[in-house]
Amino acid sequence: MTASYDVVVVGGGPVGAACARELALEGRRVLVLERGGDIGQGWRAAAGMLAPQIESRRDDPLLELGLAAREHYAPLAAALAETTGIDIGLWQEGIAAVAASDAEGYELKARVEWQRQQGHLSDWLDAGEVRARWPWLGDTAGALWAAHDGAIEPEKLVRALLDDARRVGAVLVEDTVTTIERVGYRATAVVATGGRYPCGNVVLAAGAWARQINGLPRPVSVEPVRGQMLAFPWPQGVPRAIVYGKDCYIVARGDEAIVGSTMEFVGFRPEVTAEGLRHILAAVSALAPVLAGSQPRRRWAGLRPVTPDGLPIIGPEPRLQGLWYATGHGRNGILLAGLTGLLIRQLMDGEPTAEDLRPFSPGRFWEW
Ligand SMILES: Cc1cc2nc3c(=O)[nH]c(=O)nc-3n(C[C@H](O)[C@H](O)[C@H](O)COP(=O)(O)OP(=O)(O)OC[C@H]3O[C@@H](n4cnc5c(N)ncnc54)[C@H](O)[C@@H]3O)c2cc1C
Repeated sequence: MTASYDVVVVGGGPVGAACARELALEGRRVLVLERGGDIGQGWRAAAGMLAPQIESRRDDPLLELGLAAREHYAPLAAALAETTGIDIGLWQEGIAAVAASDAEGYELKARVEWQRQQGHLSDWLDAGEVRARWPWLGDTAGALWAAHDGAIEPEKLVRALLDDARRVGAVLVEDTVTTIERVGYRATAVVATGGRYPCGNVVLAAGAWARQINGLPRPVSVEPVRGQMLAFPWPQGVPRAIVYGKDCYIVARGDEAIVGSTMEFVGFRPEVTAEGLRHILAAVSALAPVLAGSQPRRRWAGLRPVTPDGLPIIGPEPRLQGLWYATGHGRNGILLAGLTGLLIRQLMDGEPTAEDLRPFSPGRFWEW
């Protein structure tokens, strides 16, 4: 007889894994269906930055959600270390977004002011302060300094979340989901290439592939956006740091400098291109001349799940009971993954959430 699950989570990336863990911790019978392989999954490619203050613009609902998500990682990292023994590499010693020109400086200063007015710690460093702190950078016109932004290691995060979900009873099966089945206005099962899985609820957490699933009541407004990346050896004698320029960023991870990235609408083609690499190399040579002479050790690309407004889609589908969206996390899915798991669990339990989720509602793109 086929087992029936309380929840089937479609996709075992950071978002799906976080949802599975939260739901299984509450005692639900959870199945995660993950297609596996290397198809350009966001989490395999990601830099892993927790950068809500760098990534959000003025009046952006991403700021408050991202800050809550960033704060969520300290207790989550500790819990995962205790239960799975995996250190997800949480590092929260600040990110600088540097300005290459006065015009960029004005824009960044305005963001510092806005963030301060919202009650958050955000600083403007002038060019001399930037030179003193990071003498290995090229010339700048100052920097936004977000002292609590940071990073984690995405592959370790996914492994730890899935291990912990399994520890509390979730089942992980490698299978590719094709269809969500319904009876009337209720989702009743998930069909994959390897079988049919009856369930009470479905969490759609398939990243950039979310819209490929059949049986959804309306199109999911998520597009794959390619990002190309490079890794250099971390330069000797340079302390660990994370720095953003307008056209690239540098993230210290282990003994490497992870450098990215591009934003390319090219469909499901997670390939590295000569043009993309040229673009990143030119940008990083200007941002950090110390890296200009060294050869990249590795190069890769992945697909971000991006929505038209750059905000994730989190919540229930009003047209199909039992279907929950946790997708469209775009450039910030590592940052937002842990909190998204909690939010989906709270929504499923009918609990109030501390965050205002209206800007992230599934119905906002398609009212029909
Ligand atoms: C180059 C690059 C750099 C990035 N840097 C950062 C960063 O610094 N900070 C940050 O916060 N975010 C970053 N991101 C974004 C982040 O990686 C994504 O937002 C995040 O991975 C989204 O998580 P997800 O679980 O929704 O999707 P994914 O990570 O793409 O995972 C989706 C999972 O679903 C599975 N799947 C897909 N279709 C099916 C199916 N039909 N059946 C079963 N399983 C399926 C996939 O195999 C995959 O494992 C970056 C992304 C890229 C590409």
